[in-house]
Amino acid sequence: MPVLHNRVNNEELKQRMLAETEPRKTVSFYKYFHITEPQLFRDELYKKFKELNVFGRIYIAHEGINGQISVPENSYEAFSDALYNAAPELNGIRLNIAVDDDGRSFWVLRMKIRPKIVADGINDPSFDPARTGKYLKAKEYNQLSQQPGTIVVDMRNHYEYEVGHFKNAIEVPSDTFRDQLPMAAEMLKDKKDENIIMYCTGGIRCEKASAYLLHHGFKNVFHVEGGIIEYTRKAKEEGLPLEFIGKNFVFDERLGERITDDVIAHCHICGKPCDTHTNCKNDGCHLLFIQCEDCASTYEGCCSAECRDELHLPEEEQRARRAGRENGQKIFNKSKDHPLRKHRDEWRKEREE
Ligand SMILES: [Zn+2]
Ligand SMILES: [Zn+2]
Repeated sequence: MPVLHNRVNNEELKQRMLAETEPRKTVSFYKYFHITEPQLFRDELYKKFKELNVFGRIYIAHEGINGQISVPENSYEAFSDALYNAAPELNGIRLNIAVDDDGRSFWVLRMKIRPKIVADGINDPSFDPARTGKYLKAKEYNQLSQQPGTIVVDMRNHYEYEVGHFKNAIEVPSDTFRDQLPMAAEMLKDKKDENIIMYCTGGIRCEKASAYLLHHGFKNVFHVEGGIIEYTRKAKEEGLPLEFIGKNFVFDERLGERITDDVIAHCHICGKPCDTHTNCKNDGCHLLFIQCEDCASTYEGCCSAECRDELHLPEEEQRARRAGRENGQKIFNKSKDHPLRKHRDEWRKEREE
């Protein structure tokens, strides 16, 4: 039996990668399709990718595959061939190549079997995540979203929606994707014949959400191909008007990529227009929230006077306080009084009238 996982220690692998001279590309991809024997499928693919010196993480489940990897540039074609040939459903799948990325963020190949590629809490064996809604390209999105009666649904988290979203998109106000699915079906239950467009950051969540709505009797379900990332790229490339306003929240050090100049969010402390996410400087808190420059200087980058004061305590005392605290909400809560929440409720009311 060949060794199908790494045996060299992490630090050494990282050094090896850093010593490479060949350029790499960072590639992400996903596909919902039925994999009968995930372990077998995984082992086959692992062998091929290992040979090609592919790094990164890939999840495989009965419902499909999801990967974010780095590929040496001169192996790129061999890599895409290997992936396309791994299953008929994978032939020609969209491979997203990250721009402004040197491909040096991975140095090990990890391929794991998971119950799902996106956790959804669904146990219904008749649910088929591969039976998805129709893809919309950027141009098609712009056309369909303009049609009267079309409903656009954001399947991301509140803090993402808050700083940027498609014009007129509604939010599904839940903290987890698994709660969002039934909630979306419930919110839209009278709209089973309308055009419904779902979207998320990279497409993987909204694609499953589209399958979920189809499964529950919705007829005209669409989703934005490749999510906001691909929409923006295409719209810019084709010179289309951008229907997405504000920032696309991403979990890198920028905490969001500006798409348009619109600032649609507000400072969580003083309420003035601002869409700069930050983490509370108090390590015992680390709350993700929006803070303007003035408040950042008043509170020294903390979310509150309490956190600022705690920051000035001796390190030991800070640690002692932290130990007694339960791991609270790390993300600004979805308060009902939040300005954007009100905005959305008003918008929804308008729509119903
Ligand atoms: Zn402020
Ligand atoms: Zn704080």
